[in-house]
Amino acid sequence: MRAVVIDAVEARPEVRAVAEPATPDDGVVVQVMATGLCRSDWHAWAGHDDDVVFPHVPGHELAGIVVGVGSQVRQWRPGDRVTVPFVCGCGRCDYCRAGDAQVCPHQTQPGFTHWGSFSEYVALHAADVNLVAVPDEVEFATAASLGCRFATAYRALAHRGRVRAGEWVTVIGAGGVGLSAVMIARALGARVIAVDRHPEALALARELGAEHVILADGTDVPVAVAELTGGGSHVAIDAVGSEATCADAILSLRRRGRHVQVGLLPPGGGCHPRVPMARVIGWELDVLGSHGMAASDYPELMALVETGVLQPERLIERTIDLDEAAALLPRFDEAPVAGITVIDPTLGG
Ligand SMILES: [Zn+2]
Ligand SMILES: [Zn+2]
Repeated sequence: MRAVVIDAVEARPEVRAVAEPATPDDGVVVQVMATGLCRSDWHAWAGHDDDVVFPHVPGHELAGIVVGVGSQVRQWRPGDRVTVPFVCGCGRCDYCRAGDAQVCPHQTQPGFTHWGSFSEYVALHAADVNLVAVPDEVEFATAASLGCRFATAYRALAHRGRVRAGEWVTVIGAGGVGLSAVMIARALGARVIAVDRHPEALALARELGAEHVILADGTDVPVAVAELTGGGSHVAIDAVGSEATCADAILSLRRRGRHVQVGLLPPGGGCHPRVPMARVIGWELDVLGSHGMAASDYPELMALVETGVLQPERLIERTIDLDEAAALLPRFDEAPVAGITVIDPTLGG
């Protein structure tokens, strides 16, 4: 099969023929019909993820068709249309049994702990716990766009930030996860402020329901948010992942506000990012982490997609083939893309 292969940290990704994955006893092999290109793939390429062993095939936001089924799998058969959370639980531990597979200590992640979906086929483990059925009405590209950023934004706002109608939500970073957060926060009845360095991303955020936008061009973001909201937002989400954006998100909260950190914060120069903890204490702020969403929580999200309340397909900016993905990956942290890039591995070759 054709796959995007990375031979070493920061090596140029190459499309070449590799062996098809074996079917795990408890898992499936899926023919990849659509897979998102995400900043987390760039982090894997850049060597920021300790799980990755090179040579490596990235890709974790996928949807496709089951083609191989392991002997222990009971609920799935060839031909099923499926997607999967980017964190797959083991299905046996206390966390998985409690419905929290997103923090399973024995988790697998396609594209990190094993070869991912920038390829024609991908293996998925513990299929009965992790696979999510994709209704016929939902296209593969739409389902793939849920897998990481949209589901993450949904859980961050609905389950972790507990956003309620009428509250102010500040979204820092209007890339894939940030724009997802804008759409979801609006659907939850919140009033949204979007912050980004790129005017075109802010224009898209406005189309998706942001009431205000702030161009981060040296502006004091917390001051601007405080003015717009009369004292700060109820919930803030850092969808970028940097010391500056994390601090801006926390400092833009009102007293007793809730911060949700979604953007990854890799330690830089041996130092972990500084977080304004004095404000966290003095104003009784909640600082919450959010890490994907378990398959068991997908039905409520999939229902909102199926009925059109949420329209993740509006975030898809373009569809590319494996060769274009290989060329784009090393530059992806700088690519001025507003919205989601989807790879169709059945194209080209
Ligand atoms: Zn588990
Ligand atoms: Zn992702």
